[in-house]
Amino acid sequence: MFQYSSIEQYHAQLKEGNVSCLQAVQHYVWSIDATKHLNAFIEVYANEALEKAALLDKERKAGIPIGKLHGVIVGLKDVICYKNHRISAASNILQNFTSIYSATAVESLLAQGAIILGNLNCDEFAMGSTNENSTYGKVLNAADESRVPGGSSGGSAVAVQAGLCMVSLGSDTGGSVRQPADFCGIVGLKPTYGRISRYGLIAYASSFDQIGIFGNNIPDVALLLEVMAGADDFDSTISQREVPAYSKLLSRDKKFRFAYFDEAFNHPGIDPEIASAIKKKAEHLKKEGHVVEKVDFDLLDYVVPSYYVLTTAEASSNLSRYDGVKFGYRTDAPVADLTDFYNQTRSAGFGREVKRRIMLGTFVLSAGYYDAYFTRAQKVRKLLIDKIDLIFRDFDFIILPTSPVTAFKAGEKMDDPIAMYLADIYTVMANLAGIPAISIPLFIHSNGMPYGLQLMANKFNEVSLLQVSDLLLAAK
Ligand code: GLN
Repeated sequence: MFQYSSIEQYHAQLKEGNVSCLQAVQHYVWSIDATKHLNAFIEVYANEALEKAALLDKERKAGIPIGKLHGVIVGLKDVICYKNHRISAASNILQNFTSIYSATAVESLLAQGAIILGNLNCDEFAMGSTNENSTYGKVLNAADESRVPGGSSGGSAVAVQAGLCMVSLGSDTGGSVRQPADFCGIVGLKPTYGRISRYGLIAYASSFDQIGIFGNNIPDVALLLEVMAGADDFDSTISQREVPAYSKLLSRDKKFRFAYFDEAFNHPGIDPEIASAIKKKAEHLKKEGHVVEKVDFDLLDYVVPSYYVLTTAEASSNLSRYDGVKFGYRTDAPVADLTDFYNQTRSAGFGREVKRRIMLGTFVLSAGYYDAYFTRAQKVRKLLIDKIDLIFRDFDFIILPTSPVTAFKAGEKMDDPIAMYLADIYTVMANLAGIPAISIPLFIHSNGMPYGLQLMANKFNEVSLLQVSDLLLAAK
């Protein structure tokens, strides 16, 4: 039977001739079929993937040099465009829409020999923390099927957790890669804003959105980042900085400086068991010779409100393009005029949570309330960026939980959006500040569920972030 542990080990086996790309695809297609009830994949491109695998096997055997991601089997969150394949952001409003181009990130994967196996379930337009807001229904957490996998990239997390592909892509606007990685016991990286092109990523909140990576180990995640990061003429917010060879720079013997906030560990919403495990880990790091120090952080209570004001504002503008005229779903009910047509299309096309956010965003941008909400939230964002800049003058990382609790029971928070939003308390900070962050699967709770430790680093310091994550995971 095909067994996967890392890209490096897979490539070694391909070289020895013990396995083939074709066998790998067959294995995953079979596994997806056997775990359909998890509902992670929306569509599986089985035939295409088998064909591509056969071609790669043939090329390799003919001695043609292989790409960095030769035969690596990848799943894509249903917000990342792949030419000639359907994409819907898990929304009814993009019913039967087919991508007319591929995201730059996808082009980069393909150029290095990756095989795209299918698209993955998520919360509608990446809005949510449980993957319950999807037109395709909820995704189950493979560690406990009565629980959610987290969101919004729940399908992407479960696909890696349950061994349905080797690595997957998600998007992280406020934690949507790190939180499901935490809930599912895998690695989830959100790079610096502007490190990976957003061209071909369906927008939720453009000044926050970033493509992120799910994997089982750090070298895999580092290699994917290396392949996808870098300049792109199609994204005006992308950084022109050179891309380090992340996968070659992993080293486990450095000493780092960690900052932590008492405010985060003493927060009323945090599960005491999680707080104590992470504090213990911090103490352990200190014993190992790293610098670990407390820093005052009085902004914690403001990050979630600011995040939801700013992201809903951006979403209300981004989502105005779904009007039934240009693409996707269009009402066939009788309409009185154009406004009525828009109303009917958008009312029926969008789900509850997306509508809630469009209305909230429209409200905070409205003339009478703009200064009270939008301007204030922007001020908080600026204060936060300044504070984080100061912290990174003295420290390499901020150490935090990823989520205050382990995976929720399905349905548990659906009637209480505020409680759901508040659970984003430890993740949204990285998106507000545009810094990279990772969730590393280090712990198992007494309730049996996995959870992670989160680290944030200064902008474009993915090298250290990956180094320290590799060190922590290896010492687990
Ligand atoms: N849970 C957050 C939200 O609902 C995160 C979403 C995301 O990162 N896409 O907005």
